[in-house]
Amino acid sequence: MREKSVMSNRQSGTPNGGKIQHVKLVLLGDQGVGKSSIALRFVRGEFNENNEATVGAAFLTQTVNIKEHSMKFDIWDTAGQERYHSLAPMYYRGAQAAVIVYDVTDTNSYERAIAWVKELRQHASAHITIVLAGNKADMAPEARAVQSEDARHFAENNDLQFLEASAKTGMAVSEIFMAVATKITTNIEHGGHIDNRKGIQLKGRTNSDAKKKKCC
Ligand code: GDP
Repeated sequence: MREKSVMSNRQSGTPNGGKIQHVKLVLLGDQGVGKSSIALRFVRGEFNENNEATVGAAFLTQTVNIKEHSMKFDIWDTAGQERYHSLAPMYYRGAQAAVIVYDVTDTNSYERAIAWVKELRQHASAHITIVLAGNKADMAPEARAVQSEDARHFAENNDLQFLEASAKTGMAVSEIFMAVATKITTNIEHGGHIDNRKGIQLKGRTNSDAKKKKCC
């Protein structure tokens, strides 16, 4: 694993008396869609035009405060190459959240994102929070290949949060992570708790309830 560990505390402080919720979040998506760039933008506020490709997985951390909760994201940035696909379950197993990234100028990357949703629904924790993120929204309208309405419609039908973002300009990048934090916080406030092996356990809902949800 390439070490890209950044201990950052942009939003430091623990308003809930020092108790920090650890959230394992995995970034999934094709190579080149901007996963590392999204993570770097969120954690360091930086963007590199020529990011070197992630090999295996890289790891970053970032803490955010939301309501009275402090949430520390352990962000696993996976390699998008097909030859590393078999390693992916190692990273999404036990994850409380996944951000599935596609490139709005690349239809194939969107198809792969849909395939990732199916895979997570079948093999990840039933309560995993999933955000679908269309990256490179800064690109010229002529370059766009995936329409926002199509992705939004898919997300609504599959119980996902959806955002378009740009790691390059910074647009909506922190919103991706805040969407995850908000969903997890809401679940906790409704009586769920984080089990680091199984994800968030919701009071009164069983794994099979969640798996019954229509997918794709
Ligand atoms: P990864 O393989 O999914 O981790 O993708 P990278 O983060 O390495 O990004 C791949 C390429 O896309 C790099 O050249 C980035 O500079 C570029 N890139 C990433 N995010 C954006 C974005 O939001 N807009 C534009 N225009 N380019 C981006």
